[in-house]
Amino acid sequence: MRIDILTLFPQMCDAVMSESIIGRARKAGNVEINCIDIRDYTLDKHRRVDDKPYGGGMGMIMAAQPVYDCFESLCKEIGKKPHLIYLTPQGKILTQKRVIELAQLDHLALLCGHYEGIDERVIEQLKPEEISVGDYVLTGGELPALIVADSVCRMLPGVLSSSECYEQESHFASLLEYPQYTHPSEWKGRAVPDVLLSGHHANVEKWRREKALERTYTRRPDMLENAELSKEDLNFLSNMKKQ
Ligand code: SAM
Repeated sequence: MRIDILTLFPQMCDAVMSESIIGRARKAGNVEINCIDIRDYTLDKHRRVDDKPYGGGMGMIMAAQPVYDCFESLCKEIGKKPHLIYLTPQGKILTQKRVIELAQLDHLALLCGHYEGIDERVIEQLKPEEISVGDYVLTGGELPALIVADSVCRMLPGVLSSSECYEQESHFASLLEYPQYTHPSEWKGRAVPDVLLSGHHANVEKWRREKALERTYTRRPDMLENAELSKEDLNFLSNMKKQ
């Protein structure tokens, strides 16, 4: 997969995408990530990319021209239009389900707004998918774009050691993950549950499934509506509800 991040802060994005698992995935060629500076496309002689809002009001608005020309130049370079996502608090909230779908595409372009946002006309012209990372407002689209890129990249083949790494994780199957422990087996008087030390694989799996169900039921009962639940799961949940 190729991901292009269109931003006024390419170094910030590149720095984050060069670390840890995603940095290694880039080096290994599992994903290509480019951070493109929208400012390089402004026609303004002072390299300005923003201006005051028509109608007055606070803050500055990113102008349509540099954003549009930046995306057009990318399309020209690759000879087609990649799937464009505009990160905005007005978009649909990102879910693991959408992340999995996005990971099937071979090219994503992530457009980051800044200041008070982007001139609406370029959004109308480019018709991007609009994604929000939550019901709060950040100073720019860079962190949201990095969230999209990170969450998508870890679904790509070869990025994590196996698909098991994410299949049991929170949200993959509309459940929260069971609690995890590592050495030592006792810490500050708190012991790791015996079953995890037993070496009995089937019992460990049963405990983990029940803990995942219990956690989801107590913390995010809304998620259970979309989870695939076996007869045993439903029995477990109904006994829990009686307690
Ligand atoms: N004036 C805009 C509004 O009220 O909808 C908010 C602009 S925000 C200060 C600047 C930029 O940050 C946005 O253009 C967007 O790219 C990004 N941004 C802020 N919060 C976001 C969120 N929750 N999800 C995705 N992008 C966000």
